[in-house]
Amino acid sequence: MLRIGCHLSSSKGYCSMAKNAMLINANTFQYFSRNPRGGNAKEINPKDVEQFLSIAKEQDITPFLAHAPYTLNACSADPKLREFAKNTMADDLQRLECTPGNLYNFHPGSHVKQGIDIGIDLIARMLNDILKPEQTTTVLLETMAGKGSEIGGSFEDLKRILDKIELSGHMGVCLDTCHVWDAGYDIANHLDEVLTEFDTVIGLKRLKAIHLNDSLNPLGAHKDRHARLGEGHIGLDSLKRIINHPALRGLPFYLETPNELDGYAREIKMMREAYK
Ligand code: FE
Ligand code: FE
Ligand code: ZN
Repeated sequence: MLRIGCHLSSSKGYCSMAKNAMLINANTFQYFSRNPRGGNAKEINPKDVEQFLSIAKEQDITPFLAHAPYTLNACSADPKLREFAKNTMADDLQRLECTPGNLYNFHPGSHVKQGIDIGIDLIARMLNDILKPEQTTTVLLETMAGKGSEIGGSFEDLKRILDKIELSGHMGVCLDTCHVWDAGYDIANHLDEVLTEFDTVIGLKRLKAIHLNDSLNPLGAHKDRHARLGEGHIGLDSLKRIINHPALRGLPFYLETPNELDGYAREIKMMREAYK
């Protein structure tokens, strides 16, 4: 069965997200670990967690993906901002142990004039500080569109970070179809080649999740504007080939398209029908 879900609001807690997932025929979901601009996380309600764990098990809703606030910059030139990113992610990872065995995704960061080598070093240093041997959550680096000084616009960037991680067994990659397209990887016309390149550079065993989005911009635009499936430059046929590719079989797919629940329900239905 296709493992597919979408980005949901976490404001009413875990059970509410599980119920919304069921409502749109999703069997996984993503949410922001806290306000996307950072700030304090909501108190975890043990009753909500307990109920959620039983619903998730019973309905086979798994694994969920908690997305870190996208304003965090693990490789900022400002030590205070780096410290903030580290403390926030460490806190997120600690909280995620209430719901063991899921995924946590973050944007590697922007090196802003420090150069890519320093940026990669700072990101790896942060991860080495916060990863714990006993944690059950897998931390994912997201592939990025390569806007400005963003790190993660190439598979090589991510590989260089992964190579510096001591507890690398806790690390993986989330491939965002809009981002890789904007970064210049032609997943519409050369999907096999792109996945082979991913395998050669990073290794497909590191690939743990897919963000399934169309892109408002052409190949290599370095922009990062998501479109609904079939309403962008990647196109519906290519997205259908992606969910059916043998190398991606079994991975969870998360929609981050501009939609409300009913729009997500339509996209999920469309992808389920296209899944062979
Ligand atoms: Fe993201
Ligand atoms: Fe994404
Ligand atoms: Zn994006």
